Amino acid sequence: MTFSKILVYVETSEDSPAEHSLELIWKARELASKADMSVEAVLVGHGVFDIAREVTYRGVSKVHVVDNPRLATYSLIPYTTAIAEVIKKTEPEIALFSATVIGRELAPRVAARLKTGITADCTDVDIGSWVDPSTGRKYEKVLYQIRPTYGGEIMAAIVTPSHRPQMATVRPGLFPIPPRDTSRSGEIVGWNIEIADEEFSKIEVLEVRREQRKVDLKSAKLIVSGGRGCGLKGLELVRELAEVLGGEVGASRAAVDSGWISYDHQVGLTGQTVKPEVYIAIGISGAVQHVVGMKDSKIVIAINKDPDAPIFRVTDYGIVGDLFVVVPKLIEKLKRR
Ligand SMILES: Cc1cc2nc3c(=O)[nH]c(=O)nc-3n(C[C@H](O)[C@H](O)[C@H](O)COP(=O)(O)OP(=O)(O)OC[C@H]3O[C@@H](n4cnc5c(N)ncnc54)[C@H](O)[C@@H]3O)c2cc1C
Repeated sequence: MTFSKILVYVETSEDSPAEHSLELIWKARELASKADMSVEAVLVGHGVFDIAREVTYRGVSKVHVVDNPRLATYSLIPYTTAIAEVIKKTEPEIALFSATVIGRELAPRVAARLKTGITADCTDVDIGSWVDPSTGRKYEKVLYQIRPTYGGEIMAAIVTPSHRPQMATVRPGLFPIPPRDTSRSGEIVGWNIEIADEEFSKIEVLEVRREQRKVDLKSAKLIVSGGRGCGLKGLELVRELAEVLGGEVGASRAAVDSGWISYDHQVGLTGQTVKPEVYIAIGISGAVQHVVGMKDSKIVIAINKDPDAPIFRVTDYGIVGDLFVVVPKLIEKLKRR
C-alpha cells in the first residue's frame, strides 16, 4: 500500500465544481507540495465528466468519477457507498470534505464505513510528522486537523496517526480558489460502483429547492457587523453604514439570538468564517467565539464605548465612543464624499 495521495470530495453546483470544493483543492495542493504527495478528487453524480475536466484545470492529477443516472440527485446513502468504495480502491492517505450541509453528513458516514477517524468543521489543516508521546513512535504525513474547541477558547490540533485515510471536514471560505488553467491535463477515471437497490429506497428525494441566499459574507470585500451593543436601532445604523460603503452586514451571535437579524449574517464559531479586506465591528465586545470567525480580515476597525473591550486587541483602528454618536457622523461624512 502506498497511501501517497490526498483525495478531495468535490461537490457540484449547477454544472460546475462547487467553489468551496475548489478552495479545498487549493489547500490540498498546499499540503501535497509540503509532503510530496499528489492531489486527486472524487466526483459523484450523472453527466459529470465535463465537471471532472474542469476539476483537472485546477491542478488535480486524477479525478475519480462515479457517474450513474440514479446518482443524478444527491442522496446520502448511495453517495456514501460510492465515495467509500472509491476510497477503498484508491487508498488515499487523506480524504477531505467541505464542512457544508452535504459534507457534514456524508463525511462521518464514509469514515464509519472505513473504520477511521474524522474531525468535523476544521478551520485549518496542516501536514507533518508526529511523535506519539506514550510510545515515542514517529508517524509521517500526519494530517493536523485544526479546529476551535472548548467553546473556542483554544485551537486543538487533532491527529489520526494509525488509521487511514485521515479524514476531516473543512469550513468553506478559508482558502483561495486555484486559478483555472486549461493547459493542465489530468486523468479522469470512471468507476462502476455497485449500489444495492435498497440503498436508493432508504431515502426518497421528493423535491430539490434551491436556497436564495441574500447574504454573501464569504466573498464580501467589506463587512459591517453589529452586536448586542447596537440594539435594533443601532443595527439600522449598521445597515446604513454598510450600504454607504457598499459592503455586507454581519452580526454577532448576541444580535442574532436577540432576533434583530437573521442567522445567515452571523460571524463566528457557530456562524460564518469571513476574511474581507475591511471588517468593521460595532457594539461587539470581541468574544473569542466571534473573533475566530473574523480574525483573518485584512483590516479590522471597531467602534465600542468600552476602551477595555477585548475587540480592541484584534483591531487595526479603534474608535472609543458611543456608536449612536460615532456611526451617524461617519455615515454623514461618507455620504458627503
Ligand atoms: C459554543 C459557543 C459558540 C458561539 N458562537 C458564536 C458565534 O459564532 N458568533 C458570535 O458572535 N458569538 C458566538 N458565541 C457567543 C459569544 O461568546 C458572545 O456571547 C457574543 O459574541 C457576544 O456578542 P456581542 O459582542 O454582540 O455582545 P456583548 O458581549 O454583550 O458586547 C456588547 C458590546 O457592545 C458595547 N456597547 C454597548 N453599547 C454601546 C454603544 N452605545 N456604543 C458602542 N458600544 C457599545 C459594549 O461595550 C460591549 O463591548 C458563542 C458562544 C458559545 C459558547
